[in-house]
Amino acid sequence: MTPHDFCSPDFRSEPYWWDLTPRPIVPSQPLPDRTDVLIIGSGYTGLHCALQTALAGRDTTVIDAEDLGWGCSSRNGGQISGEIKPGYAALARRYGEGKALALIGEARHALDWLGAFIEQQALDCDYRQSGRFLAAHNPRQFRKLVAQAEQQIPGLEQNLQIVEKHDQAKEIDSEYYHGGLVIERHCGLDPAKYHQGLLQLVQASEARVIGHCAALGVEREPAGFRVATSLGTIRTRNLVVATNGYTGGVTPWQRRRIIPIGSYMLATEPMSPELADRLMPASRVFSDTRKIVVYFRRSPDGRRLLFGGRVSVFESDPVRSLPALRREMLRIFPQLEDLRISHTWMGFVGYSFDNLPHLGEQDGIHYAMGYCGSGICLASYFGNRIGLQLLGKPEGNSAFDEPRFQTRPLYRGKPWFLASAVRYYQLLDRLR
Ligand SMILES: Cc1cc2nc3c(=O)[nH]c(=O)nc-3n(C[C@H](O)[C@H](O)[C@H](O)COP(=O)(O)OP(=O)(O)OC[C@H]3O[C@@H](n4cnc5c(N)ncnc54)[C@H](O)[C@@H]3O)c2cc1C
Repeated sequence: MTPHDFCSPDFRSEPYWWDLTPRPIVPSQPLPDRTDVLIIGSGYTGLHCALQTALAGRDTTVIDAEDLGWGCSSRNGGQISGEIKPGYAALARRYGEGKALALIGEARHALDWLGAFIEQQALDCDYRQSGRFLAAHNPRQFRKLVAQAEQQIPGLEQNLQIVEKHDQAKEIDSEYYHGGLVIERHCGLDPAKYHQGLLQLVQASEARVIGHCAALGVEREPAGFRVATSLGTIRTRNLVVATNGYTGGVTPWQRRRIIPIGSYMLATEPMSPELADRLMPASRVFSDTRKIVVYFRRSPDGRRLLFGGRVSVFESDPVRSLPALRREMLRIFPQLEDLRISHTWMGFVGYSFDNLPHLGEQDGIHYAMGYCGSGICLASYFGNRIGLQLLGKPEGNSAFDEPRFQTRPLYRGKPWFLASAVRYYQLLDRLR
């Protein structure tokens, strides 16, 4: 029995990516009594940090409460932008023009850095510079995109192409949008294959990577930390928190600064090549100008639509939110009414109060998190930087070291304000 009549007989409530890259089965390893560097979280942040410290000869242990890579790093949309949420004007108001240029410039550099890393390590992960089509959800937003392309900030210029509505069939077969902007630099990959390739590099570097080992409590000691886990106690000189949207009570300081927000995805069953080519002829990655954004793309084999959005706030069962997500998909692509859904899944992305990612050290604990839904390249890059910082290497320095990682009074990690915030942004999307 499928949960909804629009689901295919082989429907699964798991990431589509896991069909091709099942969760890694790693031989069980005992937890050592002691390690130099203990990293909590085995996503891109944790693994990139581990790669640096292990290659530098530090005894490194990564633990994850679930299967390795179970968090966002094997379940995301596979769209890579290297963009941070706040724009230049907002950042210049907050920090001054020089800092605004440095923050945006470094995030964009992270995209090039990741491309070079994947190429140098020959990671087989369907990485492709596809370009993005940023679609305007109304004529006013289209005019804003035109202005953005025509008046680029000196020092931040990139290759942007305006596509008028009458011409947009070359990008997307949808009447829903009012033209858009092609951003050539943006890329796509298969996130679970990328995670798998990275995991193999980390294992080859002799770091220990242990799944189903939850950190339960952290105590400070003169020579470092004593961490209680579900597999026993481990002492470590350095501790790194790489838990992003899954940050819990073990690290309350970080938890008070991360807002977990659900992001939901579906995959359709395979389409005919003709339909797939008509739907998205240039096979780019897509998102739109709404604050409550949707994002979509073709699967790397070109046959399926992978469609994501923030259709719920707290729902952790993606099967329940699937009808709402499918309705969003049909608003854009009504011609897919008869196409069945083969997969749905969700995960918690980690937002910060200032919409910037953060890395640093607090009470001796290193952390990198708060990628606000753009973590493929930012988590990879920040994981690498925090590893370098821990080794005391100046290359680990970042423009993001400075902005204060903020919290709000009474916030303890449960975002009670989200439902009202979403309603406010939905209203803005209608008015803007
Ligand atoms: C549906 C969805 C779509 C997305 N789409 C995109 C996209 O297209 N492009 C993009 O750039 N980003 C996207 N993202 C965001 C991106 O995937 C994340 O920002 C990134 O993967 C974060 O990596 P991470 O290593 O910091 O955290 P994660 O990969 O989430 O890993 C955190 C890990 O910490 C573990 N953990 C938590 N607490 C403990 C504990 N106490 N003990 C042990 N382990 C613990 C968890 O089990 C988890 O595996 C998406 C996210 C989702 C959910």
